[in-house]
Amino acid sequence: MTRITLVEGDITEQQVDAVVNAANSSLLGGGGVDGAIHRKGGSQILEECRRLRASHWGRGLPTGQAVATTAGRLPARWVVHTVGPVYWEDEYDDRAEQLASCYRESLRVAAELGARTVAFPAVSAGVYGWPLEDAARIALGTVAAAVAGPARELTEVRFVLFGTAAYGTFEQVWRGMGAGGEGRQGQD
Ligand code: ADP
Repeated sequence: MTRITLVEGDITEQQVDAVVNAANSSLLGGGGVDGAIHRKGGSQILEECRRLRASHWGRGLPTGQAVATTAGRLPARWVVHTVGPVYWEDEYDDRAEQLASCYRESLRVAAELGARTVAFPAVSAGVYGWPLEDAARIALGTVAAAVAGPARELTEVRFVLFGTAAYGTFEQVWRGMGAGGEGRQGQD
């Protein structure tokens, strides 16, 4: 039984096994949550990302995929880097599928490492421009389906929303999906 929880906060402070980074395909750092993770986690994360670029991911990590590194000085054990799609209405269906893939692949990578608890930011909902409510619907729907199936060994998947607006939107969408409660619900 995996609990899906929502908290307002900073993902770099989460005491979980794996935190997910909304990276870009270069894996070499960026702004937003990516910048915060590298800043707080220290240079070890970037060094591992550079090694990944020099070996398996020479052309960068494709959109919708995920790869893990150390979490450096963060409280977590691993950072799972995933590349969300840039929002573009004209290719909505393909890109929505890529966004869902970010969540599925991140959970798969985390579970393979032996993680039991995973924290996600709202992938693509920052600089990449995905409308928050729709990003929340895709995120919550995909994770709820994954923990009912391939990711069922996880004990908690936590969404860490940056600011009250993002938290409120996720909570509202989650409630609308029939999850009930006050924004911190178990998923049976
Ligand atoms: P993307 O490029 O995938 O849109 P961003 O990092 O720009 O990624 O934004 C993704 C989401 O992460 C946004 O909702 C942003 O507000 C949020 N965010 C930024 N910093 C943090 C943080 N330290 N912890 C959690 N979420 C964060």
